[in-house]
Amino acid sequence: MKSWSCIENCGACCRFDLTERDDLSNILSSNDIALINSMSTKDGWCKHLDKSNKKCKIYESRPHFCRVNEFSTSFKGYLQNGDKFLINCCKQHISSIYGNKSNQMNAFKTAVTKK
Ligand code: SF4
Ligand code: SF4
Repeated sequence: MKSWSCIENCGACCRFDLTERDDLSNILSSNDIALINSMSTKDGWCKHLDKSNKKCKIYESRPHFCRVNEFSTSFKGYLQNGDKFLINCCKQHISSIYGNKSNQMNAFKTAVTKK
């Protein structure tokens, strides 16, 4: 069985478009949404992402919704399907940012198969 894993040099989930995320409306608080809006730059990427290496510059103090292991338990899909849900979420993010045939997608598929 595949296990979810984050990969280096991705950051695909650090680009926000809340207008495309109806699924978050019941999960995020108004404070969360205000924080996300304050973190988003004009091109949609989080201002805390170091674009040169796709690392979070505030990793230790990142918001709760950036902590996958913690935040995932807010989703019915995770409670029902576990890592399969997370893997699909990452694939959607990676596909929309880098494409289905990107290096990031290949690296992610390899990472979740290896574990
Ligand atoms: S999209 Fe998934 S693999 Fe990529 S940075 Fe986010 S959690 Fe990690
Ligand atoms: S705070 Fe860090 S983990 Fe959260 S979206 Fe921004 S760069 Fe990504």
